[in-house]
Amino acid sequence: MMQEYLTHPIFHILAEIAEENNIETYVIGGYVRDLLLHRPSQDIDIVVQGNGIALAEATAQKLGHLKVSVFKNFGTAMFRYKGTEIEFVGARKESYRSDSRKPLVEAGTIDDDQKRRDFTINALAISLNKRDYGRLVDPFKGLQHLQERLIKTPLEPGITFSDDPLRMMRAIRFATQLNFKIEENTFKAIRANKDRLTIISTERIMDEFNKIMLSPEPSRGIFLLEETGLLEMFFPELTALKGVEIIDGIGHKDNFYHTMAVLDTVALYSNDLWLRWAALLHDIAKPVTKKFIKGQGWTFYGHNHIGERMVAKIFNRLKLPQNEKMKYVQKLVNLHMRPIVLSEEIVTDSAVRRLLFDTGNDIDDLMTLAEADITSKNEEKVKRFLKNFKIVRRKLKEVEEKDSIRNFQPPISGEEIMETFHLSPCRLIGDIKNAIKEAILDGIIPNKDEEARAYMFKIAAELMKDKETNG
Ligand code: ATP
Repeated sequence: MMQEYLTHPIFHILAEIAEENNIETYVIGGYVRDLLLHRPSQDIDIVVQGNGIALAEATAQKLGHLKVSVFKNFGTAMFRYKGTEIEFVGARKESYRSDSRKPLVEAGTIDDDQKRRDFTINALAISLNKRDYGRLVDPFKGLQHLQERLIKTPLEPGITFSDDPLRMMRAIRFATQLNFKIEENTFKAIRANKDRLTIISTERIMDEFNKIMLSPEPSRGIFLLEETGLLEMFFPELTALKGVEIIDGIGHKDNFYHTMAVLDTVALYSNDLWLRWAALLHDIAKPVTKKFIKGQGWTFYGHNHIGERMVAKIFNRLKLPQNEKMKYVQKLVNLHMRPIVLSEEIVTDSAVRRLLFDTGNDIDDLMTLAEADITSKNEEKVKRFLKNFKIVRRKLKEVEEKDSIRNFQPPISGEEIMETFHLSPCRLIGDIKNAIKEAILDGIIPNKDEEARAYMFKIAAELMKDKETNG
């Protein structure tokens, strides 16, 4: 019996109203699963054998005229109570046609309703009926599978996935979020039905993909997507990273495995979805830029710039936001090698200033990504890199404290230059402004108004003289 789990006050109230109206009522799905896993519970789903909307309205009335949102077309209703969304639906029976994931729906029993659920662990229900309040209704061994940490479909998996192919993405998403295994036949059925994913909208696929990306160890899900063949269906740029080529006995690293390692390391340090996306895409242009050059080995010239462009194409196709989030990912992909290159040389103040200037407030994220990018098997090399990274981080702090480059604002505006030298808009103004910026980044002058102004006079005199001599 699960009474002690039903701590939310809504359950007793519901039980009473259900009893008064003589309707069978159950709490079902993700809420029950999460209760049993001791995970923070989300929304509460209530299934009613009968009219869900009517029960929602009666309950909301009793609770003090709460506002109910009714979705007549779906036969569902919901209201918020004590910070939780409570959703009501009549128990239903579903049957599918092959060309759509929209089923034909008719009223059914709780048993029918459990059969239409995607996984056994999501089909668990708890009775809210007086005769057996708190009884776990578990027709498909959901409880056992929770204990065994198993994702399994209630019915024949081939049919389950063919009926609604989004469930294939959901299987992998739950396996990744919960750190569960996908049961063997369920897994095989995903592989066999992967082509059905074409009837699912990109938005829905990406909702699940982003939940995978936000999981503690996103690579688990991406490896599963790859093994089942789903990844190839919507993200061929990622599968193109797979494999190693060898010429003259020289191989390059497998960029798929490398990317997965970088992604997981970044995920240890940050829950930011877009930083994780930058990790996922940092080497995305390696396959298209790959070249073997005799004497040099494998090269990937320009993979950061080409990668930056590929980010835009990928975001567009995958219906991801085309806004500052995308620009942020592009920027990190473009700059991802800079801290490493920097740490390979003597770390000069001016190189650090330039890195700060180009990165701005994203410098900490870039450092997280760049450090995660060090996945060499050569321990000595890794040690050396990490030591140099410490120096880079220290220098970044010192230089920032001294020169405030992170949010660089030109100390002298174009207008001031125009006024000072009685100039109308022309190229010279930009040249002067740029020369001041370069002088600050090179450490010739500090990032201070007074010094910048003095430098402006000096540089303007030089530039104007040049102009006169050159006509
Ligand atoms: P989360 O809140 O983490 O997404 P959840 O299980 O609550 O997990 P929802 O998408 O809110 O996920 O779905 C609620 C319940 O509805 C699920 O537990 C499952 O029983 C059922 N369900 C959702 N989507 C499907 C589907 N495509 N096919 C079958 N059942 C589904």
